[in-house]
Amino acid sequence: MELELARLKDEAIQTLKGVTVASELEPFRVKFLGRKGGSLTGVMRQLAEVPKEDRPRLGQLANEIKKEVTALFEQKKQDLSAGQTPQKQSELDLSLPGRSLPFGKLHPVTQVMEEICSIFEGMGFAVAEGPDVETDHYNFEALNIPKHHPARDMHDTFYVSDSILLRTHTSNMQARIMENMEPPLRYIAPGKVYRCDSDITHTPMFVQVEGFLVDRDVSFADLKGVLTSFLHHMFSQDLAVRFRPSFFPFTEPSAEVDIACVICGGEGCRVCKRTGWIEILGAGLIDPEVMKMVGYDPDEYSGFAFGLGVERIAMLKYGINDIRLYYENDLRFLSQF
Ligand SMILES: [Zn+2]
Repeated sequence: MELELARLKDEAIQTLKGVTVASELEPFRVKFLGRKGGSLTGVMRQLAEVPKEDRPRLGQLANEIKKEVTALFEQKKQDLSAGQTPQKQSELDLSLPGRSLPFGKLHPVTQVMEEICSIFEGMGFAVAEGPDVETDHYNFEALNIPKHHPARDMHDTFYVSDSILLRTHTSNMQARIMENMEPPLRYIAPGKVYRCDSDITHTPMFVQVEGFLVDRDVSFADLKGVLTSFLHHMFSQDLAVRFRPSFFPFTEPSAEVDIACVICGGEGCRVCKRTGWIEILGAGLIDPEVMKMVGYDPDEYSGFAFGLGVERIAMLKYGINDIRLYYENDLRFLSQF
């Protein structure tokens, strides 16, 4: 009878291990623990037939086994109702890292814009932001771009009405700030600008940083020093920089600034059109006419202004050859930065 009890106990434990759904619980209970025909109950009934001296010991053993199997059965019932099958428990690996939530990053153009701003802030420039929708006066007139100037052509500018437009450069902030404040001034104005143009190097909306400085005795040497220092911080300390004469209506003299091609190092490649140089920004001394328009005396004050395209700098920094990639919002592209 002892052997029979041990066998029943093993069988009950093994069967219970195989139970994975709640619907299998009741058949198990009936088979092993049922009052009528349950196998454990059956064995206990046979106690009457064993010799009297063995009865207490065997009875105790049978009770213990019944208790143990009942406890395991109750535990199983709880596990299944909590939705945790023994198999799932054994698959649970607590050493695995948790599931991370997807998180966003700053757009590469924003990252480069912030870097540009922080370099100029390090040189004492303050950051100013202004309206994207601007009047003709601040976008053109106050910057010495009169009505007949080609830059005002409908091909370049998005007009909202005759006198309202989407700003074509952030230089609108130069006139706004100079009008309201007295020198010395050191400002950069980062922001979106709009031009009716779209190809591999142009998008209808792009980001520009324009900056200016007005004080007494500001010379072209100051402009050259500030911009060269900026480009060395942005790219590398030994980068070659050159200034070429140019023309802008709001600066005189004006210059275009080139850097040694960052792709080929000046050897000549497709990006620099085999010249070894890449145009990076426009600059110049503020035209006396612009000074007069905001009420400054050009004999007392002088200054310089510059403007640069953030996407262009980001393209050179990251080796991107098509500006439109920045605005296609393809996460496979954007998540690389
Ligand atoms: Zn090159």
